[in-house]
Amino acid sequence: MIQWCTGSEMLARARAEGYAVGAFSAHNAEMVQAILWAAAEERAPVMIQVGQRAIRYMGMEPMMRMIEAFGREVDATVAVHLDHGNGFGQAMQAIRLGFQSVMYDGSHLPIEENIAITRKVAEAAHAVGVSVEGEIGVIGGTEDDITVDEEEARLTRVEEAVRFAEETGVDSLAVAIGTAHGFYKGEPKLHFDRLDDIRRAVGLPLVLHGGSGVPDDQIRRAISLGIAKINVDTELRQAFTDAARGVWSDDPEQYHVAVALGAAREAVKRKVQEKIRLFGSSGKA
Ligand SMILES: [Zn+2]
Repeated sequence: MIQWCTGSEMLARARAEGYAVGAFSAHNAEMVQAILWAAAEERAPVMIQVGQRAIRYMGMEPMMRMIEAFGREVDATVAVHLDHGNGFGQAMQAIRLGFQSVMYDGSHLPIEENIAITRKVAEAAHAVGVSVEGEIGVIGGTEDDITVDEEEARLTRVEEAVRFAEETGVDSLAVAIGTAHGFYKGEPKLHFDRLDDIRRAVGLPLVLHGGSGVPDDQIRRAISLGIAKINVDTELRQAFTDAARGVWSDDPEQYHVAVALGAAREAVKRKVQEKIRLFGSSGKA
């Protein structure tokens, strides 16, 4: 049986004990199973993220029901989390479906609007015991061609983070410290000085988006500086795709979907376990 856990409870403990919870994005049934099995084997608390693509592809309710159904035979501590929620309505829909945690991403809006909507989400979510993640600063994509000055401008500013945390009441905060969504062309350089300043000024667990491809030593250092949740999406999709493609290129006439997708599922499970160990959350469930 799944032990459901709120996001805030999971992340508060991670921050206090100096590890990070892996927040793994699932896009289909095999990925849900892989994340659950990895969590159970590692005895690690995990967040299963349902993001905008998975919602368009599978639907929010089918994703939640799959997690519940597969979770019946798995001993794992789980929070289901809405990733990059696009509005108040979507956050409410996730809460009604039983999510333990929701993100509202208003980082593209002027800060006043971001604060106003995030606060509304937080008030409604907290009334029913659901946790909320907000974002301040801009975490772009690796495909964005930006200059050093532009990158500097996108980083989360300490005063804005303080104001955002106080005025919205969020439980965790996604910060822009130089990571980006997708694959990096070169090696990413995290702005640890900025992260350290934010951590000292804001008491909340901090969230790292765009963690795929960030070298392990930078991940460990980020955790030591207050990062308590790390999103992993791109690397899981890569593991899944490469494994399935491997089966099909070895045997183009392999028409039993369970063979290729089973190999993909196994590859995702291994990747999730690798991340759980890197994040230090193994044995923390
Ligand atoms: Zn993200």
